Amino acid sequence: SRMSGGDYLEGLNPEQRDAVLTLDGPLLVLAGAGTGKTRVLTTRIAHILATGRARPQEILAVTFTNKAAREMKHRIATLVGDVATGMPWLGTFHSIGATMLRRHAELAGLKPSFTILDTDDQIRLIKQILSAENIDEKRWPARNLAWAIDGWKNRGLTPKDVPPGDGALFANGKGKELYAAYQERLRVLNAVDFGDLLLEPIRIFRDHADVLAIYHQRFKFMLVDEYQDTNVAQYLWLRLLAQGPRNLCCVGDDDQSIYGWRGAEVDNILRFDKDFPGAKVIRLERNYRSDAHILGAASHLISHNKDRLGKTLRPQGEDGERVTVSGAWDSGEEARSIGDEIENLQRKGDSLNSMAILVRASFQMREFEDRFVTLGLDYRVIGGPRFYERQEIRDALAYLRCINSSADDLAFERIVNVPKRGLGDATVQTLNNIARGARISLMEAARMVTDSEELKPKPRESLRVLTQNFTRWAQAADHMKHTELAEMVLDESGYTEMWRQDRSPDAAGRLENLKELVRSMEQFENLQGFLEHVSLVMDAESGENVDAITLMTLHGAKGLEYDTIFLPGWEEGLFPSQRTMDEHGAAGLEEERRLAYVGITRARRRAKIYFATNRRIHGQWQSSIPSRFLDELPEEHVEVVEAPAAFSNRGFGESRFDRLEPFGGSTYDTPGWQRAQQRKQAGGFQERGAGFNARRGGPMVIEGELVAKSTSNAAS
Ligand code: ATP
Ligand code: MG
Repeated sequence: SRMSGGDYLEGLNPEQRDAVLTLDGPLLVLAGAGTGKTRVLTTRIAHILATGRARPQEILAVTFTNKAAREMKHRIATLVGDVATGMPWLGTFHSIGATMLRRHAELAGLKPSFTILDTDDQIRLIKQILSAENIDEKRWPARNLAWAIDGWKNRGLTPKDVPPGDGALFANGKGKELYAAYQERLRVLNAVDFGDLLLEPIRIFRDHADVLAIYHQRFKFMLVDEYQDTNVAQYLWLRLLAQGPRNLCCVGDDDQSIYGWRGAEVDNILRFDKDFPGAKVIRLERNYRSDAHILGAASHLISHNKDRLGKTLRPQGEDGERVTVSGAWDSGEEARSIGDEIENLQRKGDSLNSMAILVRASFQMREFEDRFVTLGLDYRVIGGPRFYERQEIRDALAYLRCINSSADDLAFERIVNVPKRGLGDATVQTLNNIARGARISLMEAARMVTDSEELKPKPRESLRVLTQNFTRWAQAADHMKHTELAEMVLDESGYTEMWRQDRSPDAAGRLENLKELVRSMEQFENLQGFLEHVSLVMDAESGENVDAITLMTLHGAKGLEYDTIFLPGWEEGLFPSQRTMDEHGAAGLEEERRLAYVGITRARRRAKIYFATNRRIHGQWQSSIPSRFLDELPEEHVEVVEAPAAFSNRGFGESRFDRLEPFGGSTYDTPGWQRAQQRKQAGGFQERGAGFNARRGGPMVIEGELVAKSTSNAAS
C-alpha cells in the first residue's frame, strides 16, 4: 500500500533520498534554486508520517507564506493520504507563533482572545502614544517608531533589552521608553502586533521551563523552509524549541537571501553546524526546474557575488530557450510588448496561469495592470494590493474624485483629515448630521458650518481652508491639464508633503506610486475619463480559479515557479535599486543581485528580461541606463531579441549594453531627458546606428554558440 511501500521515495535522487531518510539529528540542506529543497521537506514529512515516527500534531513545519503551507499540506496528502490531515503546526512563523501565544496568553498578560493588529492599527496606536507624550509627530513620524519597534522585535529585543544607544534614534533618546509605553498599551487593549507573535513565545519559553518542556516533548520533528531568510527572533525561537529532540531540518540557499533589509540574517545558515553540533549538511546539485540556458544565465550572474558559499548547479532538462533581453523605448512600450508576447504564448496554447511578471518595485505594476485591462487579460496581483487599491493611491484618487464631483461623500470622508488638519471623528460626525438633515453633500455641509457656530473655531477655520481649496481646484480643473491639476492638488493639500516627512522605508515607494499615478493620467483626455478607467480596473477582479497571469514583486516570488517569467525594468537605479545601493553599499548590490538570481530561477522554460531606455516619471522623460546585471549575463545563454532604434544610437562605450556614464543619483533625480535631448541634437537618433547590435555584427541577435557547459560558470 501507499503507507508501507514508500512510493514517495521514487524519483528522488540519491542526495534527496538521503535528506529524506536522515531523520535523527540536525540536518541542513544547503542547495541552489530548483534543486528540490521544498520537495525534500514535503517528502520528509510524508516519510515521518508513513513510517509512524510521529503523528501529524508532533511535527512542526515552517513555510514562508500561508499559501506555501496550504500547498505543502496538499502535497503531503497526495503522497501519503489522510494521515496528513490536520497538521496544526504547519504554517508560517507568524501563524504558528499565534497558535502558541493563544495557548499561553495569560503568561504574556493577555487573554486568549487577543487581537492581532495590522500595520494601520499599529500606526494609529503609536500616534496616540506620541501625542500623549507631547512628541511632535511632524518631527518624529509614527511610522519611524513603528519601524524601529519592528526592528527590535525582529532582533528578539524586549523594551528592557534595547541597548541605550539604540533608543537615541527616536525622539532624542525616547525610543526605548516609547517602545515600553507601546507594549503597555497593547496589553491594555488585549492586542499584539506581528512581532509579538514570536517575541512573546520566546519570552515565555525563557521564563517558563515547564512550558518549553511541553513543546520539547510534543515536537518530535521540526522542519524549516527558506532558512536563509530567518531573522534573529525566528532563529532564537527555533533554537529554544530545538533543544529538545534536536531533530531539526532546515533547507535554504544563501544565494536567495533577499530579506536582509527586513532583518533576515544569512549568518543563521552559515553557522548552523556551530549552533547544532554534529549537524549533517547535504548539498543538492541537480536542478529540475529550469532549462539549461536559464540556469546557465542565473548561475553566471550570481557568480559575480563575492559573499557567498558557492555551489554547483546541474541542469537536468533540455537546453531550452535562451534568456531573452529586449529593449523598449519606454515603459509603455515595454508593457505593450510583454502584453503581445503573452497573447502570442496564449495562441500557442500556454495558459495565463503558467506566466508571471516579476517587478522590482510595486509602482511598475500599474502600467501592466492598465495594459491587461485594455487587452482583456485576467491577472492577479500577489502579495499586495493592486496598484489603484493602495492606500496612497486611494487617497490621491479621493482628492480627484472630490474635484470631479463635490457630492462624492465617501471620497470626502476619506481625505477630510488626511493629512491631519485637526478634523477628527467628532467634526465628521457633525458634518454627517448636517448633511443628512439638509439632504446635502458633506462638502456642502462643510461649507455651511464655516459660517455657523456649530464647530469650534479651529476645526471651522481648517474646514474653511479645505473647502476653499476645493472650490479653487474645481475652477482650475476647467482650464488646467488634468495631470498638472493632480500634481497641484497633491502639493497644495499637503498630501505629498505628508509622505515626504515620513521616514519609514515604504514612504519612498509611496511617493513613487504617486508620481506613477500622475503619469498614468496622461493617456486620458481629462479627469473624468481617467476616473472612469480606474473604476473599471478596480472592477476587474480575478479569483483564485480563473486562468490569470500573475503580477508580483521579485521578493514575493520566492519558492515559486512558472513556465514563463517576465522580468521588466532592468535598468540602473531601478534594478539594482539605487536606494538599496546608497543605503547598503556593496552588500546592498549583492542583495539586489540575489534578487535577480531569484527572479531568473523562477522560470521553467522561458525567462524574458526587458529594459526601457526611457522611463517617463512624473510626466518627464528620464533616460535610463540598462542594468549592470545585463552585462553580467553570459552571452552563450542570452539572445538579444529586440532593441529600439533609439537605443542603437549610443554608438560608444565598451559594454555590450553601453552604459554611457557611471551611474550617479537615482534614475528619477537625473535629468536624463535632457541628456536624451542633447544626444538628439548632437547626432540624431537613427543616424549613428553603431550600438551593440552593430558591434555584434548582426541586426538583432547576439551570435553565440550554445555550449553544453551551462554550469561551468557556476562558482564552486
Ligand atoms: P527554491 O530554491 O526556488 O525554493 P527548491 O530547491 O525548493 O527551489 P523545489 O521547488 O522543491 O526546489 O523543486 C523544483 C522543481 O523540481 C519542482 O517542480 C519539483 O517538483 C521538481 N523536482 C524536485 N526534485 C525532483 C526530482 N528528483 N525529480 C523530478 N523533479 C523534481
Ligand atoms: Mg523551495
